[in-house]
Amino acid sequence: MTDTALAGFSLPPEVEAAAEYPSDLHQGFAEAGLLRAIVPDDCGGLGLGNLGRAVLIEEVAYVSAAVSMIPQVNELGCTPIAIAGTSGQRQARAAPVARGELYASYGLTEPDAGSDVGALRTRVERDGDGWLLSGRKAWICNVRRPGFGIVFARTSPDGKRGLSAFIVPTDAPGFEVLGAEPATDVFVGHGYSRNNPVERFMRDAKVTQLYEGANSIQRLVIARHLAKTARAKAERGRSRLNAAE
Ligand SMILES: Cc1cc2nc3c(=O)[nH]c(=O)nc-3n(C[C@H](O)[C@H](O)[C@H](O)COP(=O)(O)OP(=O)(O)OC[C@H]3O[C@@H](n4cnc5c(N)ncnc54)[C@H](O)[C@@H]3O)c2cc1C
Repeated sequence: MTDTALAGFSLPPEVEAAAEYPSDLHQGFAEAGLLRAIVPDDCGGLGLGNLGRAVLIEEVAYVSAAVSMIPQVNELGCTPIAIAGTSGQRQARAAPVARGELYASYGLTEPDAGSDVGALRTRVERDGDGWLLSGRKAWICNVRRPGFGIVFARTSPDGKRGLSAFIVPTDAPGFEVLGAEPATDVFVGHGYSRNNPVERFMRDAKVTQLYEGANSIQRLVIARHLAKTARAKAERGRSRLNAAE
């Protein structure tokens, strides 16, 4: 793809100025078949894999980092379903996202739990045949639009291991959106681009170091993984040596 091919995905200044979600661009993604890149193959997915998805998002971000949030945020909401959803959940939730009919969101962060997900406090209890969730989330993109959120809640006091993910329709009774959501900030924000686009470029660049896990935390996660892999490799080497002796 080239910047010319995706030029239609730039964010018109009047949409920024009006602080509106660019629904027409969202539909443009769906009609071009690009939302199929973010859902599992059995839900109409394109089978691109992580690298292909990253390239797609990078190409869109080249034209507009804010607009690249459209596939990114919806992908985040579909990923738990791709990993652990039943076939019914995949067809009822992820497939309509690919067609642009539903919006997916990812509700992990809370006012007092960001990087430290072990501090998460949203509770859940059995309520007849269903579940009753109670808590407060923060910074959740897409929740104002029709669809569903993956809401992480505490099923046991066991830190980050005591969490489960629930699919919650945005029209579920008691689901309430308070205050502004970050997508509004990403697309507009006070003084975001009104005077000088450089300010927006700076915010676009910085935000990628914060959301979906702060960079410093991602470095820790990667370092732990590399250390674990290196330990396992050294262990295998020692076992082979012992066997050879
Ligand atoms: C535009 C935007 C959109 C977002 N969208 C969503 C969304 O859709 N869904 C959602 O669930 N969340 C969303 N978030 C929240 C985002 O994931 C969190 O902001 C992020 O995980 C960091 O959490 P925090 O803000 O509580 O910061 P903290 O966790 O308080 O971190 C503050 C600073 O301390 C550092 N730090 C914290 N702990 C450690 C440690 N152990 N070691 C070293 N450094 C550490 C961090 O790297 C960071 O620099 C969004 C955020 C933004 C800005």
